[in-house]
Amino acid sequence: MLCDKIIEDREFGHLYIIVNARAVRYTFRPANDGTEKIGVRVTVPSRYDLKDVLQSVERMRPQLNAMLQKSQASKSEAKKQTHIDWDFRIESDCLHISFVKGTSQKVLFHKEAAQIDRNEQGEDIVLKPAVLQFVCPPDFDFDKGDRQAMFERAIIEGVRLHAKIQLLPRLLAYANRNGIQLNEVKINSSKGRWGSCSLRKKRTLLKTQILHNINLSLFTLLLPMHLQKLILLHELTHTFYMDHSPAFHAKLDAWLGGKEAELEKELKKYKTTIFSFVKDVKPK
Ligand SMILES: [Zn+2]
Repeated sequence: MLCDKIIEDREFGHLYIIVNARAVRYTFRPANDGTEKIGVRVTVPSRYDLKDVLQSVERMRPQLNAMLQKSQASKSEAKKQTHIDWDFRIESDCLHISFVKGTSQKVLFHKEAAQIDRNEQGEDIVLKPAVLQFVCPPDFDFDKGDRQAMFERAIIEGVRLHAKIQLLPRLLAYANRNGIQLNEVKINSSKGRWGSCSLRKKRTLLKTQILHNINLSLFTLLLPMHLQKLILLHELTHTFYMDHSPAFHAKLDAWLGGKEAELEKELKKYKTTIFSFVKDVKPK
């Protein structure tokens, strides 16, 4: 930050005086000086009287305090949204992930398989989601060393495992019921897309067969069941149409009982990152 003057402040840490030729009055914004303490950024006109600025700060102190508190709160909320600690909890239809305090000094894993039934239409009904629990020492420091990155990797591997166990058979069941033959189905950690479909030509002595490969992002498993269905049927519709033409959407929409647009809209609340699924964090 380019500023004209930095002034120590007993309450705010620092006041950063920034000259802006186009400014006609003082404006106050929260500033982060790189430490935990937040300062106040004061924009002033070219010709300013420092004494007057400081008097103004005194008059505005209660409002500035409230402004900084609000900014601090939204910052810690943002941190919570990408932080793994005791509050990190995913409770999706198919998988529950949590951290609990144990008695051992080691980090232990507690796992339970999902209980899944099929309804008359051949669709999966999750009776009990799979459980992945990290049992940590009671005084565990989540920020020590590279623990944040380590747990993120462990959570992603846990989701990948359950995606293989649950999503693959779910996709194959839809494919089989509709006479769709697939070449290969994979779970990947793709960010930014929930799934993809590609063509594969298979030559035998007698004929050339065109088959499809489908990749599903492991994050698809964390979506509610009805949105998983959207993703799975979307990719399977690509085995008929390799584009997003009106014909593609007509087929998919019919398959989803006329709910494609509604489901697509709901899907926008989620992102392909584990933090998008943390409970009590509003989906962005
Ligand atoms: Zn598509």
